[in-house]
Amino acid sequence: MRCNATLALPSGRARPDDGEQEMDFALSEEQRMFAQSVRRFAEQNLAEGRVERAHNPTFPFDVATLMGEQGLLGISMPVEDGGQGGTLMDSIIAIEQVAAVCPRSADTVQAGNFGPIRTFVEYATREQKERFLPDLLAGRKVISLCMSEPEAGSAVTELKTTAVEDGDGYLINGTKIFSTHSPDASVYLVYVRFGPGTGNIGSVLVERDAPGLSFGKPSKFMGGEEWVQLYFENCRIPKANLLLGPGGFKKQISGFNVERLGNSARALAVGRHAFELARDHAATRIQFGRALCEFQGLQWKFAECYLKLESAQLMLYRAASLPEGQLPSAVDTALAKLACNQAGFDAANEAVQVMGGSGYSSENLAEYCLRRTRGWMIAGGSTEILKNRLAEHVFDRRFEQRAPKAG
Ligand SMILES: Cc1cc2nc3c(=O)[nH]c(=O)nc-3n(C[C@H](O)[C@H](O)[C@H](O)COP(=O)(O)OP(=O)(O)OC[C@H]3O[C@@H](n4cnc5c(N)ncnc54)[C@H](O)[C@@H]3O)c2cc1C
Repeated sequence: MRCNATLALPSGRARPDDGEQEMDFALSEEQRMFAQSVRRFAEQNLAEGRVERAHNPTFPFDVATLMGEQGLLGISMPVEDGGQGGTLMDSIIAIEQVAAVCPRSADTVQAGNFGPIRTFVEYATREQKERFLPDLLAGRKVISLCMSEPEAGSAVTELKTTAVEDGDGYLINGTKIFSTHSPDASVYLVYVRFGPGTGNIGSVLVERDAPGLSFGKPSKFMGGEEWVQLYFENCRIPKANLLLGPGGFKKQISGFNVERLGNSARALAVGRHAFELARDHAATRIQFGRALCEFQGLQWKFAECYLKLESAQLMLYRAASLPEGQLPSAVDTALAKLACNQAGFDAANEAVQVMGGSGYSSENLAEYCLRRTRGWMIAGGSTEILKNRLAEHVFDRRFEQRAPKAG
């Protein structure tokens, strides 16, 4: 199953194959043991410095290389690609356990398992994999996803960045914004159009030193991470850097559903991190001569957040428990992401409230968890866009979002 992992991956699957009636809501014994071993590793290596790490805007390559050494990058990727041959559920377990100890370190698990790297592994050629994967899976380098543009956010298919064939390569022209890890990435998975219409959207790989690629001044998300605007001006890339040609959009979005589940898992785990900080605080902080947890007004906050966290967890595990080789469905992913984003945010928000002034202070991770969970309600398919998707499923029809053309 696995090649060089130090931590043993489980081989079991949480969801039975088609045709089986059994329904099991618990992790298997192997999955539980894997979770425990990742938690132990995180507590030993990542607990110290978690607050400082949270306030560092740059990608934590030191943590990423550590993750690579432990086999916690490429968990669900094939062994022949340098991955660990595990399941999507294994990657979810890993990101949850890391985030439980150090929320910022979970970004490296996202980058090495769920982000653009997942789409890359799904569709890259052998030569592209050999060129890029060893450094990415070792945590020495990071890849960034460039979809959003100043005029193409939720309406991503309106993207304007073009790729035009030019001899033995392509010339890229356009601009991209908001790309996570863009200041630190060495390669960019860039959505481009080869002609008009959604059917002509595909993607290319642009290396950081490509001629004609330049960067704007760093800007900061509310969560603390930096991003830079990318400008492509007759940026030349070789033909070997084509990932998906015209017609690739649907495939890109299928790969992106994995990224959405990573985002969901992090939102849930980061919210749970804040929830546990608040629980410990409420159990020990004395006001009016009694522990905060003795006030019913606060007990109910904890009960409600716990209900949301546990419910979202089930949605997440359902979306991630897949037969081998399958990508998560759009509807299961939308349900999971909506539930996890809301539960994580609500838990972090209430945690700050319950912790009072100390929850609102940067020495404490609760405020960081609140800022991060807020961002994932916008990133990777905003809550509104995912609700649109669910409404289409409910009514089994498409609802056009675009304004009707004049005339
Ligand atoms: C933390 C973070 C990380 C990100 N990382 C990346 C990345 O790595 N790569 C990348 O390419 N992009 C990234 N993004 C950008 C992200 O994908 C976009 O912000 C998102 O798609 C929304 O686009 P927009 O910001 O242009 O908002 P707009 O599209 O202008 O939308 C504004 C608001 O209107 C709502 N809205 C829009 N259309 C509809 C509709 N039809 N129905 C109902 N409501 C609607 C939206 O949900 C949103 O609330 C990131 C964003 C954040 C916050």
